Amino acid sequence: MQELLLVRYGEIFLKGLNRPYFIRSLIRKIRYAVRGMGAEVWIHDGRIFVRGFSDLDEVIARVTKVFGVHSVSPALEMPKEDFDAICDQAIKMSMDLKGTFKVNARRSDKRYPMDSPAINEEVGYRILQANPDLKVDVHNPEHLVNIEIRDMAYLYVKVIPAVGGMPVGTNGNATLLLSGGIDSPVAGWMIAKRGVQINAVHFHSYPYTSDRAKEKVLDLARKLSFSCCGIKVHVVPFTEIQMQIHEKCPEEYTTLIMRRYMMRIAERIARQEGCEALITGESIGQVASQTMTALGTTDDAVSMPVFRPLIGFDKSEIIEVARKIGTLEISELPFEDCCTVFTPRHPATHPKMEKILEGEKHLDGEALIQRALEGVEVIRV
Ligand code: ATP
Ligand code: MG
Repeated sequence: MQELLLVRYGEIFLKGLNRPYFIRSLIRKIRYAVRGMGAEVWIHDGRIFVRGFSDLDEVIARVTKVFGVHSVSPALEMPKEDFDAICDQAIKMSMDLKGTFKVNARRSDKRYPMDSPAINEEVGYRILQANPDLKVDVHNPEHLVNIEIRDMAYLYVKVIPAVGGMPVGTNGNATLLLSGGIDSPVAGWMIAKRGVQINAVHFHSYPYTSDRAKEKVLDLARKLSFSCCGIKVHVVPFTEIQMQIHEKCPEEYTTLIMRRYMMRIAERIARQEGCEALITGESIGQVASQTMTALGTTDDAVSMPVFRPLIGFDKSEIIEVARKIGTLEISELPFEDCCTVFTPRHPATHPKMEKILEGEKHLDGEALIQRALEGVEVIRV
C-alpha cells in the first residue's frame, strides 16, 4: 500500500493539440515545486501523481501553489485483489466524516469480479456500520468516497482546492516593473498565474535609496520565485536619470517623465529577454501618476502592450492577495523607493502631452538610457 497525491488540472485548456505540451510543462513545474523532498512525479492513465514523500502536508502545501494545478487529493494505492482490505481502508478514510456520503466506484478493469454498483453497495454498507455519523445520499452527498479499480485500486476522499491558472511558461514571457511596494508583486503573481514567465526590472537610485531597499525587492522576487519557477531580476541604476529630470524638467511633470523613462528602459530589457509585454502594479486613481490621463502618457512612451492586472482593484483587495501570496509582510518593511525620493509638491493629474514632450527635450534621453543599461546588474533568484 502506498500514499500518493493525485493532482488535477483544469480541463478547459486541454482541448486540442496543446494537451501533451501543457501536461509535460505542468509535470516539470510540479517537480520543481517538490524538489529536495525525495518525491517522484509521474503521469499514469492521463493523471498526474506524486509519490515517495515522507511529509504529506508539505507536499500538499507546495503542489497546491503550482500554477495549473486545480485540486489535489491524498490517495491510497493498493492491490485490488483483496476486497476486504479495500473496505477497511475506505472505512479508515471516512472515519472523521460527518453528514451525507456516497461511494463512487469506477472500474476500468472490466474483468474485476465486482461491478461498480456492487462495490458501491458493499463498501457503503460497511462504512455505515462503522461510522454512525454518516448517512447515504446518492443524489447530493456532502462527501464522495472514491474507489477506482484500474491496474491497482485507488482510494481518495478529500479534494483540496489549489491555485488554478496555467503552468508558467505556457503563455510566453513578460517583464514586471517590480518596486518594493505592495502592488507590483501582486501584479506579477497574477500574470504569472496565467502561465506567463516573469522577468523583473527594478530601478534603484543609490545612494538616495539604500542597499537594504534593494535587498527588500530581491526578497520580494525570491518570494514570487517559487510560484514563478525562478525570476531574473535586472537592477537598473536610476540615479542619474532622476537627477537630470529633477534639474531640467518642470517640477509638476517630473514623476511622469521619470515613469516614462522607466517604461522605456524596461521595454529595452524586455526585448533583450524575449518578452512580449510589460506589467505594472498600477490601478486607476491610486496616486497622481495613475489617473487615466497620466496612465495614457506612460503608455505613450513604449510600443509594447502594458498589462495592469490591478487596474480595477481597491487597495484593500490588493492587500488581501498580497497577504495570501506571502509578499505583504516584506512589502510593509519601511524602506524608501526611488519614486518617493524626488516627489513633486503638486504633480500634474491632467498632464498635457505637449508639456511632457517639451520637458523631455531638455534631456539627452538616448545617452541616459544607454548609460543606465550599461550599469544593469542581473540577479537570478
Ligand atoms: P507598488 O505599486 O509596487 O505598491 P507604489 O504604489 O509605490 O508601489 P508607484 O509609485 O505607484 O508604486 O508605481 C506604480 C508602478 O510602477 C509600480 O506598481 C511598479 O510596477 C512600477 N514601479 C514603481 N517604482 C518602481 C521601481 N523602483 N522599480 C521598478 N518598478 C517600479
Ligand atoms: Mg501602487
